[in-house]
Amino acid sequence: MRMRAMKTITHWIGGKPWEGEPERTGPVFNPATGRQAAEVAFAGAAEVDRAVGAARKAFEDWRSVSLTRRQNIMFAYRELITRHRLDLARILTAEHGKTLDDALGEVQRGLEVVEFACNIAHLIKGEFSEQVSSAVDTYTVRQPLGVAAGITPFNFPAMVPMWMFPIAIACGNTFVLKPSEKDPSASLLNAELLAEAGLPDGVFNVVHGDKAAVDAILAHPDIAAVSFVGSTPIARYIYEQGTANGKRVQALGGAKNHMIVLPDADMDLAADAAVSAGYGSAGERCMAISVVVTVGEAADRLLPKVRERIADLVVGPGDSDGAQMGPLVTAEHRDRVAGYVDAGEAEGARLLEDGRGFTSEGHEDGFFFGPTLFDGVTKDMSIYRDEIFGPVLSVVRTDSYQEAIDLINVNPYGNGTAVFTNDGGAARKFQAEIEVGMVGINVPIPVPLSFYSFGGWKDSIFGGHSIYGPEGVHFYTRPKVVIARWPDPIHRGVDLGFPQHR
Ligand code: NAD
Repeated sequence: MRMRAMKTITHWIGGKPWEGEPERTGPVFNPATGRQAAEVAFAGAAEVDRAVGAARKAFEDWRSVSLTRRQNIMFAYRELITRHRLDLARILTAEHGKTLDDALGEVQRGLEVVEFACNIAHLIKGEFSEQVSSAVDTYTVRQPLGVAAGITPFNFPAMVPMWMFPIAIACGNTFVLKPSEKDPSASLLNAELLAEAGLPDGVFNVVHGDKAAVDAILAHPDIAAVSFVGSTPIARYIYEQGTANGKRVQALGGAKNHMIVLPDADMDLAADAAVSAGYGSAGERCMAISVVVTVGEAADRLLPKVRERIADLVVGPGDSDGAQMGPLVTAEHRDRVAGYVDAGEAEGARLLEDGRGFTSEGHEDGFFFGPTLFDGVTKDMSIYRDEIFGPVLSVVRTDSYQEAIDLINVNPYGNGTAVFTNDGGAARKFQAEIEVGMVGINVPIPVPLSFYSFGGWKDSIFGGHSIYGPEGVHFYTRPKVVIARWPDPIHRGVDLGFPQHR
């Protein structure tokens, strides 16, 4: 084997790290320093096939392991994550760039799904009806699908995979995860913790890579289901290819989340919310607020408060004391965000705060971008239309509440949204009429806890299956209905008519 100068992050197949020589690799950066920290092996069809083979073999036994044993493994895994949560968070900060505090929050939100999966014996219960016809009972059982695959984005390298595999595995499936190639290490720590928790080899596998690995997953005949979270164009592609190949697919896409501020809102609360939800994780959240829609004179009272808060934000390396916002994930992404700010200016929006050219002292090569604020944004501008996925907040002014609601309802995305008001009737109208899957009322980032399910509408989801929670259990199982009659003294003889259940 050739000696490599740089640390190579490799796949996890059949309960151990893969020891082969990768044909291709990709760089993994520390976004705060701007330096490459490692390289990651890229899987092709052969490595994907090996991982699916391990998962397929493990499924034969795993599907029959008792529910209580599966729960025990989930409990043990839960304890291990709790013990290693700082290790996991440090990995997230090192490869993604988010602050350590934010990374701990990410681990916590993933952990909640594990806790939900600890209760699988209850969640997977079927239904039973006695005496549906004379001496006939009917019941349903929910059975696992087989090998499920997960393809996940860079922005939540621990939490989004944890939306998927704990439930898939607890339901009796085996799993192949293809995490983002930009921050792949959290998945490997998870693989080690699952093994330590007693998960049999092959039940959880990780293959790294790019489109080649994804296409091999979509084409593999032994993969029954694919869960995807990422941008809208790729979500659409995964859904179309996966379903064309006969797989069950849930594909969650991108977002452009609007927050309406009515003139009667508590402006301090709204300003806190806009800044927290706009710039948290440097705007690299699918539930980030990227558009603030003000109604009437709300903007004139809100904007000074937003700007005061922006002035106090501390931007710096995610592991530095007091940092509230870290760098963007890569130099390319930072340049793309800067390109949108250039375009916004050229298209006539008023640039109130400009994050271009921001540097963090001592980390001049890091991929930093300062908080950016536009006023006077209109529907035709690219900063309004596109998902920027950076710390750029756009303010759109409207004259009426109905105009604000209509703006959201014609937007192709429908992931999250929020209204800020003290008027219960206005809030109720919003909840009833808004065409978005997750709605906040005086809550800017309405991410449901693990016992509800997460999912947007319109171009923010393909396939209609929300993720985790009760819908996760449904996605990773299929119902089987059994109609049973045990030996019965009444033998009615042959009857070719359709049963009429009397
Ligand atoms: P992305 O779509 O670029 O990548 C997601 C995954 O798809 C990665 O594993 C990547 O390797 C793979 N991929 C990328 N290009 C591909 C291609 N051409 N063919 C096949 N596979 C490909 O997304 P990202 O940049 O990693 O993440 C950010 C995006 O994810 C944003 O759009 C964000 O809104 C979205 N997101 C959505 C949710 C949600 O719940 N709806 C949650 C988190 C992130």
